[in-house]
Amino acid sequence: MFNKIFKFLLKLLNITGDCVPVNNQISYTINKGDNSKDNDKLLENAAEIACEIWNEHVTPQQPIELQLKGGYILENTAGRAYQDGNGGCQVIDRSWQVEVNTAYIEQYAKDKNNIVAIVMHEIGHALGIGSDQWRNLFDKNGVIKEKYAEKYPVLKGKELGHDGDHWREKGKLLSEFGEEGHCISPETIAVMELFGHQVRKVPSQRVHVEQLVSQVSVSA
Ligand SMILES: [Zn+2]
Repeated sequence: MFNKIFKFLLKLLNITGDCVPVNNQISYTINKGDNSKDNDKLLENAAEIACEIWNEHVTPQQPIELQLKGGYILENTAGRAYQDGNGGCQVIDRSWQVEVNTAYIEQYAKDKNNIVAIVMHEIGHALGIGSDQWRNLFDKNGVIKEKYAEKYPVLKGKELGHDGDHWREKGKLLSEFGEEGHCISPETIAVMELFGHQVRKVPSQRVHVEQLVSQVSVSA
């Protein structure tokens, strides 16, 4: 009995730290990586903007917390997102490790929108692009299944990229082709709804990162 009361009190105080649902938003924490302080600042600023852009468009099924850090990762890789939790607890489930290549941060430091785009791209993966659920949207030829195209005509004929984790077509946020993919597209938002996330805003056409950044309240 005492145990129950104690647990209840802890819950009330919200200090149990385990599996307490919070607002279903995308948030971030900056962790220590190989970054210099200046790069960490750039990353933090980019993360704040990227989270705000996504939060404006979707409310995820469960909160997503990015554990961001800069690092010297694989050559030609701007960033990567992965989960190393075992699941079972929402606190673990919602936590995503996101590494942004320090070399790219340095290279892109002059154009902060590029760093925002990298973080936005990685958030797309944390939201489900590249997951089994994502691959299941496509038939064996890599084309979106008819039942989904019927529900979301904007998805008709869209193809899975060669690597399976991205769109094949240029101009999607999660396309395989670099910079032209830096945008939020109606297709990507339709997929978010298929994943079960709550959609808050659907763009009528692709909105590029520069424009998305110019619309948020945080400044780059
Ligand atoms: Zn990717």
